[in-house]
Amino acid sequence: MSDKRIVYLDHNATTAVAPDVLEAMLPYFTGKFANPMSIYSISQDNRKAVEDARERISRLLGAGDGRIVFSGCGSESDNQAIIGFAMANRAKGKHIVTSSIEHHAVLNSCKYLQKQGFEITYLPVTNDGLVRPSDLEKAMTSETILVSIMFANNETGVVEPIEELAKVAHAHNAVFHTDAVQAVGKLPIDVSKMGIDLLTASAHKFYGPKGVGILYANRKVRLDPIIHGGEQEKGLRAGTENVPGIVGIAAALEKALADRESETSREKTLRDRLERELLARIPESFANGAKAERLSNTTNITIKYIEGESMLLFLNASGICVSSGSACTSGSLEPSHVLLAMGVPAEHAHGSLRFSFGRDNTDADVDAVIEKLPAIVERLRAMSPVWEDHLKEGR
Ligand SMILES: *Cc1c(COP(=O)(O)O)cnc(C)c1O
Repeated sequence: MSDKRIVYLDHNATTAVAPDVLEAMLPYFTGKFANPMSIYSISQDNRKAVEDARERISRLLGAGDGRIVFSGCGSESDNQAIIGFAMANRAKGKHIVTSSIEHHAVLNSCKYLQKQGFEITYLPVTNDGLVRPSDLEKAMTSETILVSIMFANNETGVVEPIEELAKVAHAHNAVFHTDAVQAVGKLPIDVSKMGIDLLTASAHKFYGPKGVGILYANRKVRLDPIIHGGEQEKGLRAGTENVPGIVGIAAALEKALADRESETSREKTLRDRLERELLARIPESFANGAKAERLSNTTNITIKYIEGESMLLFLNASGICVSSGSACTSGSLEPSHVLLAMGVPAEHAHGSLRFSFGRDNTDADVDAVIEKLPAIVERLRAMSPVWEDHLKEGR
């Protein structure tokens, strides 16, 4: 057995449950197991735990009198925000605007609606990965009912101009949804002040458990359920409440926001050093979206004339966990739709790595990558015919 230290730099894919979050959840798996919807008094504790979690989250997100709907994951909340909204509001219009860099939970919900007769506009982004409010303005029609633009991109960390985009949507009487799965816990968010009508979050991206998500919905927004059945969540999401998960997501959000400022600057220092050192040591490499405002834990680096998948395998052999493209598309050899939309040529997009930092990372993790990756790149390029061609052209 190897006792090799693991360097985990893939926190945008998922995070470990924080110890105090786990501790808060544990009683609800065993002693406090009752169904919160039952009549007997032992259920009341659980009902109270769910409503208490809802109130705390509502306050932390600035939700005012809006609703917090607990779901099974970020993907489910994205589906409800888009499909559930479209179904409830289709009499008002059948046009939805989104961007070409969304998570597949948003893109594929839109594709599904396209098959049901909705028209979808996929906005382009700049080379820095930004959606332009002027492009949104041009795309709006009298048929547009919904605009869905992500808060921060999972692959590059680029933060979109959410408040400006929401203003454009509202000026045309459309509702504004944002997939904030990567932003919640990392950026300050106040849905009321920012003009966000619908917001998606997922616990496992901020040190909460897998299998629990949130959809915030402004009180005025009409929504259909995606999961049909009992009257849980005021008829917006059937299914016995995931009480441990709901207790966990509230505890995780509280902790993430309490630590946010200090942790953000700590991770930014690590990220910036890694990025600077890799770009200096690896010729023909660049960072994607680095000129835009980014999540301070994320860097996405394109290393030309090389396959991302091969680098991943060699890094893995050194105990270093990173990702190429998004977790959902790795395993396929399609280049990242996000990088393609940013104008990175397909052959270079293939050679991209995402490093995403978290609470457990230290300077030693940065040192490990700086020590290993440039040598891996050199070895792989020495075997690469495209690198050979590139060197000949340069002569
Ligand atoms: C991870 C992620 C999702 C999906 O969340 P799950 O809880 O895994 O379903 C959606 N959007 C973004 C931006 C993500 O990073």
